[in-house]
Amino acid sequence: MSTTTGVARVADALGVLALRDAPLGARTTYRVGGTAAILVEARSMADLVAVAAANEGAALDVLVLGRGSNVLVADAGFDGIAITLGGDFESIEVGDDDHDGTVAVRAGGAVALPVLARRLAEQGLTGLEWAVGVPGSVGGAVRMNAGGHGNDTASSLRAAEVFSLRDATSSVRAASSLALSYRRSNLGPGEVVTAATFQVRRGDAAAAKRTIAEIVRWRREHQPGGPNAGSVFTNPPGDHAGRLVELAGAKGLRHGTAMVSEKHANFIQADTGGRADDVVALIAEVAALVQAHAGIALSTEVVLVGYPAAR
Ligand SMILES: Cc1cc2nc3c(=O)[nH]c(=O)nc-3n(C[C@H](O)[C@H](O)[C@H](O)COP(=O)(O)OP(=O)(O)OC[C@H]3O[C@@H](n4cnc5c(N)ncnc54)[C@H](O)[C@@H]3O)c2cc1C
Repeated sequence: MSTTTGVARVADALGVLALRDAPLGARTTYRVGGTAAILVEARSMADLVAVAAANEGAALDVLVLGRGSNVLVADAGFDGIAITLGGDFESIEVGDDDHDGTVAVRAGGAVALPVLARRLAEQGLTGLEWAVGVPGSVGGAVRMNAGGHGNDTASSLRAAEVFSLRDATSSVRAASSLALSYRRSNLGPGEVVTAATFQVRRGDAAAAKRTIAEIVRWRREHQPGGPNAGSVFTNPPGDHAGRLVELAGAKGLRHGTAMVSEKHANFIQADTGGRADDVVALIAEVAALVQAHAGIALSTEVVLVGYPAAR
């Protein structure tokens, strides 16, 4: 539900926590798209409890926004409550060494993955170096099972702490219960990853830092900068979406203010000041070309927000 009266009622209940008609697209790496009817910058569990209480009965749609590196917000905006995490959700706690050489690291849902990767490497803790190349948050990484360079979140995640906005309860979920698979989990939109515990290994700081430098170099060489959200499509089994897009002749294809990257065909760039709707139209065009050329139906990795079939 998202009626004007529902929005007004929830905003009233949230008081100063509610930012009305707040820029949302501007908080994403695409830097296009409209506003959120309500934006809450949650800095504590109490803030999340307040959101759950205010939305009880109104049942507005909710969106937890991490670093916005995998979402595309419609130009028309999002008519629900968008929640960002900060404050208490930004900590990194490194546990004691276990007898088997492993170390548990608890990171808040708002922690940026590159920060986590670098912080651990400096301490000689290895296993999350790959995360330096993924510009998301810990919460977004758990939800999307982010990964790269032969690794993913599932390979080192022990458990996630999840707050349910439906019933205002917190739970610790073992990684094995999250149904983590390629860019997927069973977490729903009303579930906020407030923290995650990873298992890393005591190793060589110099080697970990070299790995990080190599990943950063590789990314700069192979991926475009500018407004985008990384891979637009998931790779179909046994193939690469970028290869299929290129074979379909879509590299460099443009729709209004959006263009398929010349550097990496699975990236779609938005022009500065561009339109999310152009990006969505181009996604559909590219998918149709690949379907016609290779007979493969590509699925989007990017999460569409504020669009009719948004997930
Ligand atoms: C240049 C570039 C390169 C990229 N490379 C990679 C890559 O190599 N591998 C890869 O996997 N991804 C990659 N991505 C995509 C993206 O960085 C990841 O999907 C990342 O995990 C998204 O995290 P986020 O915090 O930005 O989430 P958002 O983009 O903000 O959100 C993505 C989804 O996660 C949900 N979410 C966010 N935070 C939380 C939370 N705290 N609790 C519950 N749900 C939450 C959102 O509701 C949404 O459904 C890339 C993106 C860019 C721009």
